[in-house]
Amino acid sequence: MVNIKLESDPQKEFCSDPNCRDYGKRGVGNIVRYGHDKDGRQRLKCKTCGSVFVETKNTVFYNRKLSEDQIILISKLLVEKNGIRAIKRIMEIHRDTISDVVEDLARHAREVADFLIRNVGLTKVQVDEMWSFVKIPTKDEKATFASDGNDQYTSAILENFDAEMINYGQLVNVKERERGRVVGKTRTIIFGEVGDESIDTIYVERSNLTVRLGISRLVRKSLCFSKCKEMLDNHLDVYQCYNNMIRVNSALTIETEKGEKNIVRTPCIAEGITDHIWTWEELLIF
Ligand SMILES: [Zn+2]
Repeated sequence: MVNIKLESDPQKEFCSDPNCRDYGKRGVGNIVRYGHDKDGRQRLKCKTCGSVFVETKNTVFYNRKLSEDQIILISKLLVEKNGIRAIKRIMEIHRDTISDVVEDLARHAREVADFLIRNVGLTKVQVDEMWSFVKIPTKDEKATFASDGNDQYTSAILENFDAEMINYGQLVNVKERERGRVVGKTRTIIFGEVGDESIDTIYVERSNLTVRLGISRLVRKSLCFSKCKEMLDNHLDVYQCYNNMIRVNSALTIETEKGEKNIVRTPCIAEGITDHIWTWEELLIF
């Protein structure tokens, strides 16, 4: 195999120091080559603030074919129900190029999430046919799980958690209907102690609906189903990052006095992880 060393273009790089006057700007001439690091990667220097860093060969914006704006547009289309084929038609870009960007986006989204989202306390967990992330609870804080009556959850939960560490209750809709509406619901405690009010699946059902509405691969009855699990994982990781940091969640809005603007929040703001709504650009250069 021939190892081709790519010559990096300082014009495509930018200063990643938020305190720098030229932070995030490309092609303004502040970045110059500055030797190589011990792994042979090109080092670059910002003439404005003097900071030295290695080339962004592995970042989302390092793409020799697409502009920064095109990459941001792909990101936006991706979380608004568009599949790779739809993006290809809208932007007239080759599918493989888009797939490469999605792969980079997902890797970056995972890195950002790993860095920012830590030690988020797990209190109540509602489970439905779609699982997202779960974190091991601490000894003094038991996690509470709620699901519908699907028995597979009991074994799935026990495979991942110690029964002594959790509470788990099931909510079963009784199939008696009056004019098409479910009239009865029974709540059963499977283990631990759970109050009736905690055995509910309304939040997770809403959350799954949101994901289904945003991701083309999960829209019901869609022809755009996932043909490859890896791509589905990538798509979900990008969406999760978007949902946590960029997308305003109306259920988290804080109402203020009349005449004042309501405070809109993302899940990360609500958890105190960040103090503002992120932009795509901010997420991608983080
Ligand atoms: Zn700088």
